[in-house]
Amino acid sequence: SYRKGGYHAVRVADTFAGGRYIAQRKLGWGQFSTVWLAYDSRTSKYVALKIQKSAPEFAQAAIHEIEVVSALTQNDPENKKCVIRLVDHFKHTGPNGRHFCMVFEFLGDSILQLIKYNRYKGLPLNRVKDICRCILTALDYIHRQLGIIHTDLKPENILLVSTINPSNDPIRSKTGPILSKPVGSMNNGGGCVVNAIEKKLKQRARRAVARITARRASLGGVRPVRKENRCLDGIDFRCKVVDFGNTCWDNRPKADEIQTRQYRAPEVILQSGYTYSADMWSFACTAFELATGEVMFAPKTGQNFSEDEDHLALMMEILGKIPRKIVIGGLRSKDYFNRYGDLKRIRRLKHVPLARLLTDKYKFSANDARELADFLIPILDFAPEKRPTAPQCLRHPWLNKSFESGVQKLDSEMSKLQIK
Ligand code: ATP
Ligand code: MG
Ligand code: MG
Repeated sequence: SYRKGGYHAVRVADTFAGGRYIAQRKLGWGQFSTVWLAYDSRTSKYVALKIQKSAPEFAQAAIHEIEVVSALTQNDPENKKCVIRLVDHFKHTGPNGRHFCMVFEFLGDSILQLIKYNRYKGLPLNRVKDICRCILTALDYIHRQLGIIHTDLKPENILLVSTINPSNDPIRSKTGPILSKPVGSMNNGGGCVVNAIEKKLKQRARRAVARITARRASLGGVRPVRKENRCLDGIDFRCKVVDFGNTCWDNRPKADEIQTRQYRAPEVILQSGYTYSADMWSFACTAFELATGEVMFAPKTGQNFSEDEDHLALMMEILGKIPRKIVIGGLRSKDYFNRYGDLKRIRRLKHVPLARLLTDKYKFSANDARELADFLIPILDFAPEKRPTAPQCLRHPWLNKSFESGVQKLDSEMSKLQIK
């Protein structure tokens, strides 16, 4: 992909925007771009520099992403809405063409990485709730205030707010920001050497964090419940929704196919039209994955059925039969269902309600399972218009019970104090 129309090759210490940004290390990449940690010499802060592929379709996508993220940033001056912030944008010309570049605030690992670090066992429920609150705050904001559907909500697109400034990072601080061309191995082998070093650094950093948190826990007398969750105790989780490259405006023409497979809503599969509530479906799948460590629906193509059909079958196994009105409503309905509302090619579904799945397969307590199912089932309604909205979910007891009782206690104590 490093050819004309494709990615722009970056080396550590390359500069952008007339010397303002200095490349430090690669953070990640996607279908459209590579993303680099860069040092902003004007503000002395670290930023994430997204360098788009240069072909016209990628430039078009970048223009769209810039339009959306500018609006997100401008309408949230207090930085409270849990969405990524755009710092700057410009064009950069290189051997592969002219690349749109976006400068974002620098964030941390994605919550998909968090699930991996936790060995796919699921996160502690209080952490899941923290993350859900952030995602719902973001969805409420983009849906109601901006009229935007994200269309690609998933753990990979939720990034933790980075509390570790790279300049405070014990390993990084030895070298400081790379302001000039470094000598030796970092610079001559291209990506491989840098990646190997980065891997080592990451391993060391992770071990250090685990050691420090374990020590802190033992000092504070905190007794972690599950060993795998130790690193996550006592950390106040904040995260932000990113990757607005695929978003659409609800009132403009929309693509037929949206969302990453596992997070795709039934109305998108059936092509019966979608709106903001499609994001709510992906949100529920994401919340399930955070709590259990496993993808909620992982459809596969079979010998005589398609991935779409398997997907619908998996949904019905957990959520029950799709109501007739919904079954017949889509452009694709006749491909999958007979006139009785049963799948044509997949019979004999094993119905396992969500709460039972959570206790039997994922070893939740009966109470935890019931509460989580009570939160998720309404969001996984086959009828898009019946799903609760983001602000309605934010008011659900699952996200408020312990929190509210704490706040109420404080409130009542405050009012007593004021009366006296
Ligand atoms: P996609 O194919 O997912 O649409 P893309 O080319 O649009 O990819 P992004 O998803 O925006 O690119 O970014 C690619 C990766 O770079 C992310 O998965 C993440 O690991 C990293 N990244 C992006 N933005 C930031 C940021 N602000 N801070 C830290 N890392 C980031
Ligand atoms: Mg992405
Ligand atoms: Mg993208």
